[in-house]
Amino acid sequence: MINSVRTRIAPSPTGAPHVGTAYMALFNFAFAKKHNGKMILRIEDTDQSRSSKESEEAILSSLNWLGLQWDEGPDCGGDFGPYRQSERLDLYKDSVQKLVDAGYAYPCFCTPERLTELRNEQLGNKETPRYDGHCLNLTKEEIQQKIQAGEKHVYRLKIPNEGTCLFKDELRGDVQFDWKQIDHQVIQKSDGFPTYHLANVVDDHHMGITHVIRGEEWINSTPKHILLYEGLGWKPPVFAHLPLLRNPDKSKLSKRKNPTSIDYYKDAGFLPEAVVNYLGMMGYTLPDQREIFDLQELSESFEIKRMSLGGPIFDIAKLKWLNGRYLREKLSQEDVLQKIIEWKANPEFLSKILPLALNRLETLSDFFPLSHFLLDDLPEYSLEKLIGKTEGLQVAKLLKIAEWEMEKIQKWNRDQISALFQKISQLEDIKLKHLLAPFFVAITGNSVSLPLFDSLELLGPDLTRTRIRIALEKLSADGLGLSKKALKKLEKDYANQYGNRID
Ligand code: GLU
Repeated sequence: MINSVRTRIAPSPTGAPHVGTAYMALFNFAFAKKHNGKMILRIEDTDQSRSSKESEEAILSSLNWLGLQWDEGPDCGGDFGPYRQSERLDLYKDSVQKLVDAGYAYPCFCTPERLTELRNEQLGNKETPRYDGHCLNLTKEEIQQKIQAGEKHVYRLKIPNEGTCLFKDELRGDVQFDWKQIDHQVIQKSDGFPTYHLANVVDDHHMGITHVIRGEEWINSTPKHILLYEGLGWKPPVFAHLPLLRNPDKSKLSKRKNPTSIDYYKDAGFLPEAVVNYLGMMGYTLPDQREIFDLQELSESFEIKRMSLGGPIFDIAKLKWLNGRYLREKLSQEDVLQKIIEWKANPEFLSKILPLALNRLETLSDFFPLSHFLLDDLPEYSLEKLIGKTEGLQVAKLLKIAEWEMEKIQKWNRDQISALFQKISQLEDIKLKHLLAPFFVAITGNSVSLPLFDSLELLGPDLTRTRIRIALEKLSADGLGLSKKALKKLEKDYANQYGNRID
């Protein structure tokens, strides 16, 4: 048995809590528990412009909902804190100095203009864009002078000119990269903040992480990390890169095709135990091939080597089937009833709907038909209804813009939602009433319904986005969606008018 195993999950708080994070958390949890070790939760918030407190809170609460409890983290503390990277900046600065002294890093003064030019030149020559090592030619005196003159600079990792980096991955065995393929990664930005690579390595070391179990999208970065460990004189942890979850069409799981926020599954009435069970089946089978298992059973029998490398398909239809089995096989009727009440049939939720519906009620029996779209998975409606008097393409365009704008809402509430539609109405020069018409249908299934902005607040961001996405899919299926070309143009116009997308 391995002693004092320490694994970690290191989410960046830059959006809704992702099922991919839960997937990684699950196997980090199982591995740690199997070896009587600990799982650490670290918040990687060095990208200050994209990180938010709301996102951090949402990630913690959704992992809690799934029961994937960590042993140390920003909320519960531990001996290796602080557990937020933004609170550990001095540590990274010290490491940059150590790397420079050891000849593993160097300051780079290249201007953004030079870097763009270099990039364009390399792309023109059909080469992979990478830094050309220009600033490696500076003498110590030149560097000193520039720094004293206050010239803006970053620090880069000095990658060997030749040779290969060889490391072991627990699932793949020996993995080899030519150093020539690897870019001179920026490790500290000009604002003094570290990039992911540096902060991640420094923290994994200082937090005593023994096993880095993460998604395979990081495998190309591992040579850089190995070099950082070497430069800092530290022993690297064991690496295991897990396969990425995929959409049914085998592309990387993305919210354009599947709901990826854990909150969606909560809001849509899935049981956390079923979601955990389903994620546990992604690329893994228990030694006895059991299909229904809980976190403890998975942890007890977990062997990382049994993970398969083929990209597991995250298929909502299968998850629904499994969830149904949980409702019937794992819970008593009283339990199911209790779950339904806790979910949305509780006085707190219903009392939020009532004021919206009250002036439309004649009898009590009007209440549920009016509010059913707040309880349904997806509303039913025809394409004609969705399009109404607007032109199909225009509907697709408006839905898309709203989808992008919704990504920017950090606090999902009526006022923000109202401001969002006012803004679109103004910038697209369309009356609010006309703008809202297709949204009424996409969200509620009807052209008239309860007040839309309040309803969206109650529905939450994830169910809302899914309904917009489904409406867009319906339009595309009927040839009324945005073509690739139209989408490209819209993206451009959108960036000009509304600012950059953040998804
Ligand atoms: N912050 C990275 C992420 O959000 C962590 C990657 C890693 O586990 O090294 O995925």
